[in-house]
Order: sequence, then structure tokens, then C-alpha cells
Amino acid sequence: MTDSFSFVIHGTGVVPGYAYAPAVWTKARPTPPVQDRVLDESAREAEVARFAAAAGVVGERLSARASAATGVAAEVLGATAGLARDRGWHRAVQKLIKSGHAAEAATSSATEDFVAMFQRVGGLMAERVTDLRDIHDRVVAELLGEPEPGIPTSDVPIVLLAHDLAPADTAGLDPSTIRALVTRLGGPTSHTAIIARQLGIPCVVAVEELRRVIEGTPVLVDGTLGAIEVGVEPAVAQEHVTADIARRDAIRVWAGPARTADGVHVDLLANVQDGAAARAAAETQAEGIGLFRTELCFFAAQTEPSVDEQAALYGQVLAAFPGRKVVVRTLDAGSDKPVPFANHAKEENPALGVRGIRLDAINKGMLERQLDSIAKAAKDNGVDRPWVMAPMVSTVDEARAFAAMARQRGISPGIMVEVPAVALLADTFLAEVDFFSIGTNDLTQYTLAADRMSSPLATLTDPWQPAVLRLIQMAAAAGEKAGKPVGVCGEAAADPLLACVLLGLGVTSLSMAPTAIPAVGVQLATVTLAQCRAAAVEVLRAATAADAKARAAELIG
Ligand code: PEP
Ligand code: MG
Repeated sequence: MTDSFSFVIHGTGVVPGYAYAPAVWTKARPTPPVQDRVLDESAREAEVARFAAAAGVVGERLSARASAATGVAAEVLGATAGLARDRGWHRAVQKLIKSGHAAEAATSSATEDFVAMFQRVGGLMAERVTDLRDIHDRVVAELLGEPEPGIPTSDVPIVLLAHDLAPADTAGLDPSTIRALVTRLGGPTSHTAIIARQLGIPCVVAVEELRRVIEGTPVLVDGTLGAIEVGVEPAVAQEHVTADIARRDAIRVWAGPARTADGVHVDLLANVQDGAAARAAAETQAEGIGLFRTELCFFAAQTEPSVDEQAALYGQVLAAFPGRKVVVRTLDAGSDKPVPFANHAKEENPALGVRGIRLDAINKGMLERQLDSIAKAAKDNGVDRPWVMAPMVSTVDEARAFAAMARQRGISPGIMVEVPAVALLADTFLAEVDFFSIGTNDLTQYTLAADRMSSPLATLTDPWQPAVLRLIQMAAAAGEKAGKPVGVCGEAAADPLLACVLLGLGVTSLSMAPTAIPAVGVQLATVTLAQCRAAAVEVLRAATAADAKARAAELIG
């Protein structure tokens, strides 16, 4: 093979692992006829029925796939099926048909109106845009009599390439034939990444030059470094894949607890959102809870639950890990996590607005009532001094006031390091509280000034960005100096290679989705603390995220 056929392109690696197989692109989306027809009055009722039938078929198909699936896949398919039946969207399409448009054009036009509305609202609503466009494409294909767009079926292993993947596409993936996922768009928190993680297949997103890969070409995917290699010797590719299979086997049987190769114990904890998740986490190798996102208990609550009601909910999480570390986070309502009873006005720029601890100013007493509830839950469950942390702290005054409120109630106070201001003044902040927990999702968003939900900005919202690593190092160093714990509970903790670097930077615990724990545990077992420290020194010399990752991989990969 000549050099012109050999090249490597890069994106953001979001699920580690190697795969080698021919590349196959997803099926094209239908293009509705450019020319709209003007429908005769007498044909409009039938056209409305034709649309309803097409949307009905699409909804049914998705529901059937939802029933056959499990876990996140079932939830995603069920939610997308629900969109196909959305009454508001149906009404908008019907209105356009009744004013004389053909069903295809009416579907497209109504969808674009909804998309514009979702994008104006932002946050979680904006994330539904991909789902809505997916439903649009499926319904239009049905109206045009074309095959349903999306994932090609294959009996042999393939690497699936796509511009972007709709949630319903990713939810139907079969890991026995699809060995890796690579997309031009998407970020570390996109549906593509979440589903790939659940299926345990390597995944790379935000590969700008992906179009260079021609259908059928064998490609080597490196989900750690985010590299797609074309023209690699099959024997060399196979070596990587074989080593990776051994790694995955080790992950499957890993029983914990986590230790480095030189025997240093590392606390691997779980991120949970309610009692059920905490009980499920207790069945895994998680040694406790590093982040209980209390706001996720209240997505639908129109009124603030009473102290007793809240205490019962929090108590379930404490009860799942008796005698173990459980870190409860006070409400992080606002921005992408609206909580109806927290009631704050619509904001132009909610990620920089009234969220987290800042809500206390407009909801007097809400934070104190939550602390009362946590204290009650602790008492009811025999927990002596519960660990509770506040999100989105940005001033020392906020930290001091929070610590006072917590200590009055026998609670051990901590704060999240999510705003660069806290890392920059880490010593001063840490003098006020008992511990830090670094939220790398928000810390990255605020350091790089890049919306964590934005696909086009995925290369910026990467915790390997050297500026983020430097801030983590500052927070961890303050912890070492003060002899206080500094954990990481953002997605960065779930990246096996980065987890080793975090340990080397001085972080004392790592909290993540329970499914991510074994891969981190296996990687930690391959390195010594000295190697992690050396890797930490090396990444702090890097100028780019890719450089930082490559330096770490060189030493401990
Ligand atoms: C974070 O910001 O990293 C974090 C853990 O908090 P959340 O993802 O809930 O904002
Ligand atoms: Mg956060």
C-alpha cells in the first residue's frame, strides 16, 4: 500500500479501546422534494391522514425496538417514539397541510419551527433537536416510500461512520457487528458517547476530516487517543486489537478494590441520582458515593418537598452505603438542570446565571431546608457527620456562609471546584471547608468558555485541555498542603488514562458512573504511583489536549 493511502485523522476519543474493520457509512437521510405542491381543498383531509399514518408507523417501529431493548437504549428509543406522537408537532403539521401544503413539506416546515423554538429555549430542550430532526427524517422517508434512514445492517464486523448519530440510531446498535463508532460531530456527553460506553465499544467523536474515509476501507480506531488510521498493516492492527481484547476481559472480571501496581489504594466512588441508583451502585465495586446529584430527584416537582419528604429521599441513598462515604450535593438547579420549584426567571445565559448555590439568594431558606433534610436523613440512618457539598461556588463568602450553615447542623461542608475562581484561590477556599470535589464538566466549560452541550465545541470541552489540568493541579496541591481530601466527580474521573494522571496530580478519590469503575480499576492496576506522578508532571508541560493525552499515553498508556 502506498503512502497516499495511509493517513491518520483525529477527533475526541470518548470510549477507549481498539477496533479494526471496514468502514461503513450510515444511510443517507431522505431529501424531501424541493417543490411543494399546492393541495386542492378536497385532498387535504386525506393528506392529513397520510401524515398521521406515516408518523404512526414510525412511532410503532420505535416503540417495538424500545420493548426489545434494555437500559439506556430502551429509554432513548421510548423517548424518540414519544416525539413521533407529540400532539403539538402533529397539530403544527396538520395546520400546514390544511392550508394547502403537501405532507412532506408541512412536516419539514413544522419541524424547523420547533427546532428554532427548542434552540431559543436552550439547555435540555436544545438537545432534543437531534431527536426531532431524526423523527422528521424517518417520517419523510416513510411518506416518500423510501427505506428508513440510519444504521446499515451487516453480518460481518464493521466500523460505523456517521456525520452525526440520532439517539434512536445509537440505541439500536448491535455490538457483535459494530466494533466502533466514529462521528464527525458529537461531544463526550453526546448520546453517541453514552450508548457506546454502555455497549463497551470504542468511540471517537468530532472527527472533522472523517469524509476522507471511503466506504469499505479497513480502519484502525483508537478510542483512547481519538485516532482513525487508514492504511495500517493488518498484522499491526491485529496486535492492538488482541491486546485490547485482553484488557476488556480483565475489565469484565475485575472485582475491586482499586490499587495501583505498587499497592496504593484508590477510592473509586459512584455518581448517583436517587435511592434506586444508589442501591444499584451498592451491587458494583463502588466503595461509596462521591456525588449524589439531588436536583435530579426533583425534575418534575412543582412545589418544594417538605423536610420530611426530602429526608426520606436522601435517607435511601445513605442507607445504600452504611458506614461508607456518601457525598450529598445540594441542589444544582438551573441551566441544563431546571427544577420547577426553584422557580427562577428565564435567563439569557443560564450557564452563567442563577444556578447552584446562587439560587439561595432568590429562594430564601431553600438551602437551609435542604441542609435540615440531609441532617435529618443522616440522623435517621445513623450517619454521624454527613459530607455535603455546594455546587457552583465562586466566592469565598459563599463558601464561608455555606460552611457555617452546614456546621450548625453537624454536617461536614465541602464545595465543588467548578468555577476557575475556586482553583485560582484554592488555599483560601479550602481554609473555609473540609473538602473539595472537582466537577470537571463545568470546570472545563467555564475555563474554555465553551458550552458543555455543544457538539461543535467538543474539542474545547475536553478535560485534557492543559489549562483545566493546571487548575486541577492547583486544587489538588491545596488539598495536599491542608491535609484535606480533593476528589474528582466529573466525567474526567471515568477516563482510565486521565484517572491515573489525576491520581498523580494529588487527587484523593474518583467518582463516576458505576459502569465506568472496572475500566479505571484495571488501568490503575497497571501503573505505580510514581508513574502517575511522572505523567502528571509531563501533562502540565503540554500545550494542547492532544499533546497532554499523548504524553500521558507514552508514560502509562
Ligand atoms: C461537573 O460539573 O463536573 C459535575 C460533576 O456536576 P454536573 O455534571 O452535575 O454539573
Ligand atoms: Mg457541575
